[in-house]
Amino acid sequence: MFHAGDIIAYLDMCKFEGVSLQRGMNFHLHNGLSVVLMSLRKGAPYEDRVEDNWQTLIYEGHDIPKDKSGLNPKQTDQPLTTGNGKPTQNGLFYNAAIKYKAGAPAEKVRVYEKIKNGIWAYTGLFNLVDAWIEQNTRKVIKFKLKLIEEESTLISSKANSNIEHTRVIPTSIKLDVWKRDKGMCTLCGSKDNLHFDHIIPFSKGGSSITLNNIQLLCARHNIAKKDRIE
Ligand SMILES: [Zn+2]
Repeated sequence: MFHAGDIIAYLDMCKFEGVSLQRGMNFHLHNGLSVVLMSLRKGAPYEDRVEDNWQTLIYEGHDIPKDKSGLNPKQTDQPLTTGNGKPTQNGLFYNAAIKYKAGAPAEKVRVYEKIKNGIWAYTGLFNLVDAWIEQNTRKVIKFKLKLIEEESTLISSKANSNIEHTRVIPTSIKLDVWKRDKGMCTLCGSKDNLHFDHIIPFSKGGSSITLNNIQLLCARHNIAKKDRIE
């Protein structure tokens, strides 16, 4: 099981999900969860964005595939159905969001974020709570996802009664930490099973948005540290 902030190589992510994650959107896989991949980097293909201090994610639906019909995917409506009327991944997520608004349980979605080529971070588990279509020069589908807080997060945020406090580390901080720590555990130099670690733990009020409070640790040192603190 991954925890928010874990850094994952692309192949390990596919192995964990039991599917080759070629697509950014993967509705309801065998484990009963959906998976979306997002990128908040400059020049990313889709306009994914976060709101409410990472409690909310606005995820953009996907374009038609490049290889079809010679149409420019960025100038063509994002499809809810394929040519033969079957729902696309857009359609599957869209229908689930509409059902949720009519009272069905929310589809749970694991979100991974691209840090750099081949390197992904697990952002967390979200509920799919809304979907709508925006029409400008073309139709673009938007999905609203709400972070499901881990139990410890809920307790600590209540204790601090501070809604600005979030466990999720913003992308810009992740990138700066990755660069500063050169993609290695700060204690042993290992490049495997890395995790973005809160130096002062989140549960003790440590900030997610301060560069100086985040470091890279390997799994071994991350666990050793947890044992010391808890
Ligand atoms: Zn280490």
